Amino acid sequence: MYRDFYRMSGQEKSGLFLLSCIRKKLQAAGFAGAFVCRKYYLTNGKGGIMQITGSIKEVRECIGAWRKQGLSVGLVPTMGFLHEGHESLILRAVEENDRVVVSDFVNPIQFGVNEDLSTYPRDIEKDKRLCEKAGADLIFHPQPDEMYASDFSTYVEAKEVSAGLCGKSRPTHFRGVCTVVCKLFHIVTPDRAYFGQKDAQQLAVIRRMVRDLNMNIEIVGCPIIREEDGLAKSSRNTYLSEEERKAALVLSKAIFHGEARMKQGERDAGIILDEMKEMIEAEPMAKIDYVEMVDADSIETIEKAEGRVLVAMAVFIGTTRLIDNFIMEV
Ligand code: AMP
Repeated sequence: MYRDFYRMSGQEKSGLFLLSCIRKKLQAAGFAGAFVCRKYYLTNGKGGIMQITGSIKEVRECIGAWRKQGLSVGLVPTMGFLHEGHESLILRAVEENDRVVVSDFVNPIQFGVNEDLSTYPRDIEKDKRLCEKAGADLIFHPQPDEMYASDFSTYVEAKEVSAGLCGKSRPTHFRGVCTVVCKLFHIVTPDRAYFGQKDAQQLAVIRRMVRDLNMNIEIVGCPIIREEDGLAKSSRNTYLSEEERKAALVLSKAIFHGEARMKQGERDAGIILDEMKEMIEAEPMAKIDYVEMVDADSIETIEKAEGRVLVAMAVFIGTTRLIDNFIMEV
């Protein structure tokens, strides 16, 4: 531990001193929402410390201290219940930024009325361990009332890109995503923000919002992380029974098939999608929401694979709605 301290630059040490002052101030004020894991003091994150807070004000204080030192900041927005997919985003952010903030917030306004907001899995203790191990510096874990006043009434919407694919069955979802991500961008003011291609339409929607509203933030897309058998990692996989977990493999099998057909030179969307749908329909536990081929940036339906192509699907396995996709440049 002392060796770590001596290896730190003067800048790192002064940052540490500042953070320890903030911590002492917060503790003196009896603030319960934020704490510092003493155990990891000097040994975690590039800042040598990982903090967690539910307070917007504290996030701003922390970012302000980093900015005074000229440090760059990366943001990884998540809804928690972290797995290796989220971890890959954090690791990339740690590689590319001086400091990394992970937001861990189940955003109520991106859930429809009959969706799984109340049952969405949560495990903040496990999330903390994953973030510490990956080298994050700060977890922002607010309660809903910290993010949304009771008379909250301002929304951000990227209309056309939000309309197709998941937008058809989840008409208010991307408005909720854009709004919370916009708020997180204002709170954290990151240089870069990291999103998974697992949610390919979300990535397109965020890119569009950033472009349209001139946000000075680099959006970094990261590849899909899968289980060994191919299933895309997702917090929602935890809903699956043993039997459903086996049936869920039909998504990645169809994705790999479609990808292989395109690599072989097939360009006709109808042919590729029909073959993929046939594979999924052969699984009795699976019910297709959509399987489509679209332009990866505009999310407009295409008949022939051309340019940056996104083939995406949403499939119910029992009551659990899972998504998967591949992107190919042709
Ligand atoms: P979520 O917590 O589901 O809102 O996801 C937070 C971020 O992690 C989003 O940018 C997701 O696209 C990304 N993510 C989730 N699962 C994966 C995965 N299997 N591989 C890569 N990124 C993922």
